[in-house]
Amino acid sequence: MTILKLDHVAIVVEDLAAAQQFYHDHLGLSVSRVERLDDQEVTIAFMPAGESQVELLEPTNDTSGVAKYLQKRGPGIHHICLEVDDIGAALADLKVKGAQLIHEVPVTASDGTRFAFIHPKSAFGVLLELYERPETGKRNGGLLAAVRAGLEAFRKAL
Ligand code: ZN
Repeated sequence: MTILKLDHVAIVVEDLAAAQQFYHDHLGLSVSRVERLDDQEVTIAFMPAGESQVELLEPTNDTSGVAKYLQKRGPGIHHICLEVDDIGAALADLKVKGAQLIHEVPVTASDGTRFAFIHPKSAFGVLLELYERPETGKRNGGLLAAVRAGLEAFRKAL
């Protein structure tokens, strides 16, 4: 497993418009898109920050996990997300090493990104998310195919 970058930091807020305005007016970050994810019961404003992003999350109801987190702790960092080259290998490795996983099998989002969460109990109080981007998965698949083809050619040459 290789960590490719810090993909995003997700911040839970009560008022998405006010939070966007702060990040825009004080830090110069612009919103690239706003998306309502009904399955995750949040509206997300994506704000690119160099190679990474700040994601502002506003719960869409009072009963979701994110809403309860907000009620209990107030606004703040909800999770951080690391992009990995191979999420299957990463989860298998973490499991062997005894990390407490929320998802033992990656979940596939609508855009093809595969993600999984690691429990804050294992990550020193931080909810950690892992991402594998679809482009990266394909690249790994291509690389694996190339390695297999190379091995096959080597075996035949013996
Ligand atoms: Zn996230």
